[in-house]
Amino acid sequence: MQKPIATPSRTNEILQAHGFSFKKSLGQNFLIDHNILMRIVEATGMGENDGIIEIGPGIGALTEQFAQRVRRVEAFELDDRLLPILEETLAPYPNTTIHHQDILKVDLSSIIEERLTNVEKIAVVGNLPYYITTPIIMRLLEACLPVDRFVFMVQKEVGDRMKASPNTKDYGSLSIAVQYYAAATRVLTVPRTVFVPRPKVDSVVLSLNKRETPPVIVKDETFFFQVVRASFAQRRKTIRNNLQHNLLTDKEDQKRMEEAFQKCQIDPSRRGETLSMEEFAELSNALLE
Ligand code: SAM
Repeated sequence: MQKPIATPSRTNEILQAHGFSFKKSLGQNFLIDHNILMRIVEATGMGENDGIIEIGPGIGALTEQFAQRVRRVEAFELDDRLLPILEETLAPYPNTTIHHQDILKVDLSSIIEERLTNVEKIAVVGNLPYYITTPIIMRLLEACLPVDRFVFMVQKEVGDRMKASPNTKDYGSLSIAVQYYAAATRVLTVPRTVFVPRPKVDSVVLSLNKRETPPVIVKDETFFFQVVRASFAQRRKTIRNNLQHNLLTDKEDQKRMEEAFQKCQIDPSRRGETLSMEEFAELSNALLE
């Protein structure tokens, strides 16, 4: 039996055999620690009757472990230079399909409907390319897919932002969006030393369990997120200033805004980072009255 791909020697061998050179612009940092990779596999909780959607398989380190354990793996890789490598490394696994597609352009509902019908549970996983971490996560969470769990490796800073509470420097629209859709837990912290090439920062593995119902009641989700994003547009400005400049720009809107602040008893000279998700929900609901 061959060594797992996620070891320094095997990864090196594969990369050299194919003369592969890393593209920084595609966020290519490959994992070379089998134990860490197994913690990611365990965090998904997926077994032989389940399905995996993987984002950015690279040379197949994580893909191979899932291929050995679950019923179907659908993986999406943008870099065409990796396709012949994946064909070779994943040759023993007929339950695995590599799609040469940009994950931000894939219609995952159709993939699930067409290719993952005979599985019990589905998890989306990935050691995410850092340059598009936030758009990937937001797109997946907002899509309301029939997915049981998301397990992502992200840069530590981004992980901190996702889990942040009000009144901290990391708290922002990403924190609210992630916590609105999912309960986020940190699985482990991953040192930069276990990747080739070595990134400048450490990473974390996060498990996001989608909530059955959001933690706050909002009248209009799209508007709620517009209010949140506008309130953080310039962190040093007050919410009144941010909303005036970025969302509620005409006179009528501003009158409505002052009434909403009064109704919710929110001091408009506060900064966005001090408002809880509940307060943002109240404010956005009051603005719609
Ligand atoms: N899963 C591998 C591992 O853990 O060793 C590779 C992870 S590497 C951080 C990110 C991978 O995502 C790379 O293989 C990169 O080519 C791929 N990628 C980058 N942008 C992508 C996109 N828009 N859609 C799909 N894959 C992408």
